[in-house]
Amino acid sequence: MATKRILVTGGAGFIGSHLCERLVADGNDVVCLDNFFSGRKDNVAHLLGNPRFELIRHDITTPILLEVDQIYNFACPASPNAYMYNPVKTVKTSVMGAINMLGLAKRVKARILQASTSEVYGDPKVHPQPESYWGNVNPIGVRSCYDEGKRVAETLMYDYRRQNGVDSKIIRIFNTYGPRMQADDGRVISNFVVQALRGEPLTVYGKGGQTRSFCFIDDLVEGAVRMMNLDDFFGPVNIGNPAEFTIMELAEKVLRLTGAKSTIVFKPLPQDDPTQRQPDISLAKQKLGWKPSVNLDEGLKRTIAYFKRVLKES
Ligand code: NAD
Ligand code: UDP
Repeated sequence: MATKRILVTGGAGFIGSHLCERLVADGNDVVCLDNFFSGRKDNVAHLLGNPRFELIRHDITTPILLEVDQIYNFACPASPNAYMYNPVKTVKTSVMGAINMLGLAKRVKARILQASTSEVYGDPKVHPQPESYWGNVNPIGVRSCYDEGKRVAETLMYDYRRQNGVDSKIIRIFNTYGPRMQADDGRVISNFVVQALRGEPLTVYGKGGQTRSFCFIDDLVEGAVRMMNLDDFFGPVNIGNPAEFTIMELAEKVLRLTGAKSTIVFKPLPQDDPTQRQPDISLAKQKLGWKPSVNLDEGLKRTIAYFKRVLKES
């Protein structure tokens, strides 16, 4: 692949940092932009000495002038705890952030890929979820700032394409996990792994019968890069691992793989917590020739090894 100048917003976050690493390794010049709300400089510290890598502290709710060929718009807190902390800001990040990045893409004729989410399907009535499903989202609930913000970001990608000819693309990311999630981030895999490694009880919300389908970070990054570099297909396309597990099954897996003796405690189910989620990845297979290659046991082993190191150092 020829060298490109690539902007990654949210580049110091969990997914963004892996993406930056991959894009630098592919020989591109990467500008990582982040306001460090839920990301950390530590996540990209190993890239800082590389002349192909640049880090900018900036908030995408305000415009920025840069010269780039591609934009991965990944800035947005993704953990429910983080996005509900300041919901108005979350909406601004998704909506004003998308407008600013689309404005930049329009000015410099860059291609832009929006990180959307399975949350656009809300609490889905269709299972598994294909891209053609319009979703079942509460517009005024506590998760709406995230779900509706991303839905508007998708709308903007399409309106800028239709109205201004911007080369915009959308991926819908399903629950992704792996090294560099924050230990206190609040998402289920980091919570369970950290709780197990500390010998604390695993906190299952509700009865644990709700399902999720977990995608390992390396698979997600591969899907995102393929989508960005494919001509004549704009998406949206689901990127996720279709292997579906209940939260109780996940808890049991984490206990088995860590060898922890932790108990399981049940906590109240958060409001509007989707009961089931599984991507239909037929479109990704057909258009991108992509499917995940790391199963949950293998991905959990790598994630557990990472958190063991982190917890030892802290
Ligand atoms: P993350 O919270 O680790 O990363 C988000 C990054 O964006 C952080 O570094 C944060 O500091 C930065 N950020 C937030 N608001 C910003 C702003 N206004 N200006 C500049 N930077 C800002 O989360 P993640 O899991 O890496 O998610 C990355 C993207 O992927 C997000 O857009 C998220 O919605 C999407 N996504 C993630 C998942 C998942 O399971 N991890 C699922 C669906 C969608
Ligand atoms: N969950 C849980 N215990 C935790 C954290 C989350 O049982 O400590 C549940 C949560 O209620 C949800 C699922 O795990 O049903 C996935 O939660 P997460 O926050 O990781 O992602 P999302 O709800 O956004 O899919």
